[in-house]
Amino acid sequence: MAPPAIPLPYRGRLAPSPTGHLHLGHARTFWIAQERARQRGGSLILRNEDLDGPRCKPEFARAALEDLKWFGFNWSEGPDWGGPFASYNQSERIPHYRAAFEQLWASGFIYPCICSRKDIQQAATAPHAEDGEPIYPGTCRPKESSTLTKDLPTKTQANWRFRVTDGEAVEFVDGRSGPQRFIAGHDFGDFPVWRHDDLPSYQLAVVVDDAAMRITDVVRGEDLLPSTARQLLLYHALGLTPPAFYHCPLMKDEKGDRLAKRHDALSLRKLREEGATPEELRRDWD
Ligand code: GLU
Repeated sequence: MAPPAIPLPYRGRLAPSPTGHLHLGHARTFWIAQERARQRGGSLILRNEDLDGPRCKPEFARAALEDLKWFGFNWSEGPDWGGPFASYNQSERIPHYRAAFEQLWASGFIYPCICSRKDIQQAATAPHAEDGEPIYPGTCRPKESSTLTKDLPTKTQANWRFRVTDGEAVEFVDGRSGPQRFIAGHDFGDFPVWRHDDLPSYQLAVVVDDAAMRITDVVRGEDLLPSTARQLLLYHALGLTPPAFYHCPLMKDEKGDRLAKRHDALSLRKLREEGATPEELRRDWD
């Protein structure tokens, strides 16, 4: 009989995008991530997800580190003190994403798409996935999935999409909400892995990094449940082992809308300036 598998040491991560100041909703999700790591004697890493060119600003990345430290977060690896899987800034990890992209291309999983966002929105048959992404109507999808014979262009120009298998069920067990099931081609369609501005999509970058940084447990907002389904297809296509997932409820404002970076009044920065303490902000969280 095979000996029981020894569980990997818990490694969690905080992965803020520096597109604005962090708010209380981020802090609550991150707090759950930190608590879960602490309860399991694990470690937590910080990754700065600064890929989205014009929207990401170094001043927001600096502010995020400061605000998180003030709030009581501790991480053992990150952009400030490095670690064995540096760089912890996504903008400095492009060769890793490029290698995964080439692997997907060589195995025939992806195809170039020249449709604009508007083309897709306007396609009469384009329903939207639960997370608001239009389901790609398949305009540029080749008839057969096949390994391309031409050389991969160095500049990719098009958006490259992962071809899903229509009707395939993607199932996983969420650590909070239990069994999840998404149907490819119905709940989401062919999704971008590489952008026409020559950057990886969020889905590809996050899979490559969570695998490369040996993350065992991903804690994030429940708005990303359908993204997790897409990411599981990427793990599989790249031959990588996925982490466990735990999706947290999102914090809402008084009107019932989810908090966004535009809710400046609830930014950690503002709350701190107004004299709030981290202890009182998280009084009801445990
Ligand atoms: N940077 C992403 C965000 O802020 C992280 C999502 C994730 O946890 O995968 O939404």
